[in-house]
Amino acid sequence: MARLRFNAVEEAFKKQAIEPTAPAKFTSDYYGKYVFNEDAMSKYLSKDTCKNLKATIEKGTPLTRAVADEVAAGMKSWAIELGATHYTHWFQPLTGGTAEKHDSFIEYQGAPGGKILEEFTGKLLVQAEPDASSFPSGGIRSTFEARGYTAWDPASPAFVLGNTLCIPTIFISYNGESLDYKAPLLKSLNAVNKAAVAVCNYFDSKVKRVYAYLGWEQEYFLVDEGLYAVRPDLVLTGRTLLGHESAKLQQLEDHYFGSIPSRVAAFMTDLEYEGYKYGIPLKTCHNEVAPNQFELAPIYGEANLSVDQNLLIMSIMKEMARKHGFRLLLHEKPFAGINGSGKHCNWSLGTDTGVGLFTPGKTPKENLQFITFIVNTLMAVYKHDRLLKASIMTATNSHRLGAHEAPPAIISAFLGSQISTILETIEKKPEQDIIMDAKHALSLGIGHIADLMQDNTDRNRTSPFAFTGNRFEFRAVGSSANCSTALIVLNTAVAEQLTEFKKDVDALIKKGENKERAIFEVLKRYIKICKPIHFDGNGYSKEWEEEAMRRGLDCEKSCPKIYDAYTRKDSVKMFTSMNVMTEKELKARNEVKWEMYSKKIAIESRVLGNMALNHIIPIALRYQDMLLDNVVKLSQVLPKKAAALSKEQVEQIEAISSYIAEVKKNVSIMVAEREKAEKMDSEEAKANAYHDKVEPLFEKIRTPIDQLEFVVDNELWPLPKYRELLFIR
Ligand code: ADP
Ligand code: MG
Repeated sequence: MARLRFNAVEEAFKKQAIEPTAPAKFTSDYYGKYVFNEDAMSKYLSKDTCKNLKATIEKGTPLTRAVADEVAAGMKSWAIELGATHYTHWFQPLTGGTAEKHDSFIEYQGAPGGKILEEFTGKLLVQAEPDASSFPSGGIRSTFEARGYTAWDPASPAFVLGNTLCIPTIFISYNGESLDYKAPLLKSLNAVNKAAVAVCNYFDSKVKRVYAYLGWEQEYFLVDEGLYAVRPDLVLTGRTLLGHESAKLQQLEDHYFGSIPSRVAAFMTDLEYEGYKYGIPLKTCHNEVAPNQFELAPIYGEANLSVDQNLLIMSIMKEMARKHGFRLLLHEKPFAGINGSGKHCNWSLGTDTGVGLFTPGKTPKENLQFITFIVNTLMAVYKHDRLLKASIMTATNSHRLGAHEAPPAIISAFLGSQISTILETIEKKPEQDIIMDAKHALSLGIGHIADLMQDNTDRNRTSPFAFTGNRFEFRAVGSSANCSTALIVLNTAVAEQLTEFKKDVDALIKKGENKERAIFEVLKRYIKICKPIHFDGNGYSKEWEEEAMRRGLDCEKSCPKIYDAYTRKDSVKMFTSMNVMTEKELKARNEVKWEMYSKKIAIESRVLGNMALNHIIPIALRYQDMLLDNVVKLSQVLPKKAAALSKEQVEQIEAISSYIAEVKKNVSIMVAEREKAEKMDSEEAKANAYHDKVEPLFEKIRTPIDQLEFVVDNELWPLPKYRELLFIR
């Protein structure tokens, strides 16, 4: 075993950067080459078909069968020219990642056995029936109606990946219930569009549509592929379950400021080339704080498309890492003791008239609108803090949250001093002083926000939900997540809140209040109510935890417990009233969440038990044997001095025995607890048992093993050590 480790280290050191070649001189020459975008459409579709398809994309007008057939034919010709031989409906099951079932284009022209033709019809484009019975549905599909359908999402362009034309789709059950992330995301986008347009119309009657925007920042680790292969925990769980900390970790933060290592730089450049071919507007690639940790971020875009692009780049990254001799780790906490990986979701709303609703304006009217959206977002976050936390909680992300480097497990919102001051001013203004005309709005300081905000250095890295000048940055989202889970909740909560706001304002207007004044009064009331969610201080501090508790914010840390937020009364009301999910869908989704949680912990527990018993203990015994041998030989050669000379060895022998005993004992307890957990009669109880009884044993097994790693002869140790995994590239 140790031989494998040393071979891997040696090979890793020999690896050279594989320099990629640029696909063309200018990025614009090949940008979006593999995407069925407007350029491709205008080349492969008739003018009329283009127009109809655009209407579907922009306004949701249903496509007729004839138009769908024409789109399919054009798409097929385009894809075949790019080398595609197969097509697939590309969808986003609740297990995470994306799924696809590849079908070849070929069909018999006439009777079976006759001439073969490449065929792709509107029917195949629009709908398909993947063999879906193996995807989790939380009991929505009983076996006799196990069918699930995928249905084309024309708003996200098809693309060619390898030899396959990929068609982004939603995935729904026979009865139309969502089985994926995309369907509810689209519904949440509709909800927030509708609610936000109604509110925007107070300020500008021309606004017809509001878009949600997303700019993700994807963090990840790269580990040399050879070293990765020798770590069963990395291979099977995506994180290290064992490992004594390296003498050097991230104390110096030299990785963050350092130049990008050449093998990694080659990987990044290659990744950028590939991303551009798919029309993914990658903007930044850089080192992160932890060693071997990096980040990738695009220019933000419409949320549905941006989510798809993130999922696509995640799978491209995996392939690209292998091409460059690495493995990609998207796990939120692959290494203990150093920073984990997140996926900050920068989120904003903007109108079809080009106004960013979280961008401070230049006139009092624009700024009243700006403050309206800020305050309503705060209200939404305040009302649904536990649900928002549930949306980003997973077995893997829970390792990262609440640790000292990631957003804490308490949702709060950072606003910065300028916005805070403005809210305070509004709140304290006596009722009778709120006379709304341009001048008085100015006197509230609202007219000047744009100038004030120019210096946007007011940042708080400890906040899970931070206002950053023209958007909110939801920082608690995990690196392996589908951004939709967070966005579905955020969009829906904001939609519900804006709807309520409109009702409150309209009620005042009906009573004879002037419009601006009505808006002000409602905002003033809201600012008071949602105050507890606003926190600009240090989110990592112990004091904040206590303070948050006093404020009545949700402080629960157990992942499976937090999931209950999805089926609480106010959540069900929110999702159903906004037409995003039914109670049945919510319940089913939670079943899947609990099931996935239990499965992940069960796998980790098995891998850990196996590594402890089959990899670590035998090596510890071998080393102990060497020490025993030494003691025996000393007593033979130097009988008189042996006791004194072998004192340390004997102590080591005893220590090793006690570590081994501790490991064995805790592995047995863990196995017994696992068996008990498996027998629980609901997914919820099972997940709680895994969380409360099984997982706490990981640390108890790991600690003595890490001690063993510290004492056992380096020559014998079978697993690549932290210093090797983190510093070789
Ligand atoms: P930082 O690391 O300082 O947070 P980055 O430049 O790494 O900044 O990432 C910022 C992300 O936010 C980018 O993806 C960017 O496109 C996105 N972004 C910028 N403005 C908006 C906006 N109005 N709405 C949504 N996302 C935005
Ligand atoms: Mg950021």
